[in-house]
Amino acid sequence: MTDMRYLAPSTLDEAVGAFAAAAGAARILAGGTDILVQMRAGMVQPGLIVDIKKIPELTGIEETADGGFVIGAAVSGAVLYEHPRFGEVWPGVLEAINLIGSTQVQGRASAGGNLCNGSPAGDSVPAMIAAGATVTVQGPNGRRQMPVEAVPAGPGRTNLTPGEILVSFTLPPRAKGASDAYLRMIPRTEMDIAVVGCGVNLTLKDGVCTAARVGLGAVAPTVLLVEAAAKALIGSKLDDAAIETAAAACRAACRPIDDKRGTIVYRTKVAGVLLKRTVAIAADRAGRA
Ligand SMILES: Cc1cc2nc3c(=O)[nH]c(=O)nc-3n(C[C@H](O)[C@H](O)[C@H](O)COP(=O)(O)OP(=O)(O)OC[C@H]3O[C@@H](n4cnc5c(N)ncnc54)[C@H](O)[C@@H]3O)c2cc1C
Repeated sequence: MTDMRYLAPSTLDEAVGAFAAAAGAARILAGGTDILVQMRAGMVQPGLIVDIKKIPELTGIEETADGGFVIGAAVSGAVLYEHPRFGEVWPGVLEAINLIGSTQVQGRASAGGNLCNGSPAGDSVPAMIAAGATVTVQGPNGRRQMPVEAVPAGPGRTNLTPGEILVSFTLPPRAKGASDAYLRMIPRTEMDIAVVGCGVNLTLKDGVCTAARVGLGAVAPTVLLVEAAAKALIGSKLDDAAIETAAAACRAACRPIDDKRGTIVYRTKVAGVLLKRTVAIAADRAGRA
């Protein structure tokens, strides 16, 4: 058995320096609810663990002057839940993050870990994509921004380059009449992996949908932004025909696997059903926002 070092730096520069210097032998630890399970199963054996929970920029939540939010990549679901304003402004993103695991898992697990773990079924990812969230990443060559949908590269893989750490999520300011929702289908009532997950974010003006984004999880190698579904909703009064067209776009976007949780046919059908239900919740919230 090889030795493993553990580092808990208090600055991002220190974390990036150590992570990059280890040249692939290091792993980031946020909540540890994925990585520790993988280490125990012998799937990963890092020579260095870089714990990022002691870095203020990665553990803070800021409401910006324009009404947007910047959420540190390592903020836990429990801490986000306690924020006095976040759930009011982004109820769909919050409900997606709060679906992850149990109370114990919520105390540790982060949206950053959910995204960087690269699971196509990660619950927070479709909601973040629907929200139009971007991420800031920092590596040995500096900082860059990218949309959340550009981060996953395939099951267990991301487009972060060696030594890069996810720093934060930026959620845009909210228009009046805008809201969001997230629903997932799981075979059990809780503590399971999504068969399909659907995030919808939309804006209503005088009953007409003026903006929409749809994120779909667990139906392809990466979580998808379904632009054709959003296009079907925008300009409509969210009538049955528009919603059915959007549901059909979701079904058409599916490239799922068959596994013990659901077949290709089942996942594809559920994608359309979830789209309809998620739109209904987001629209109801937007009507009150
Ligand atoms: C009992 C249980 C139930 C669960 N239920 C669900 C569920 O319902 N839905 C769901 O989606 N997931 C679920 N999970 C999986 C897991 O809890 C989530 O994916 C969680 O969001 C991971 O966050 P974390 O902070 O614990 O990540 P970690 O385990 O700390 O990290 C996960 C991966 O991302 C990397 N990483 C973490 N943060 C960064 C960063 N800032 N920059 C670069 N790389 C980073 C790590 O190196 C690691 O490879 C469950 C896990 C358990 C144990």
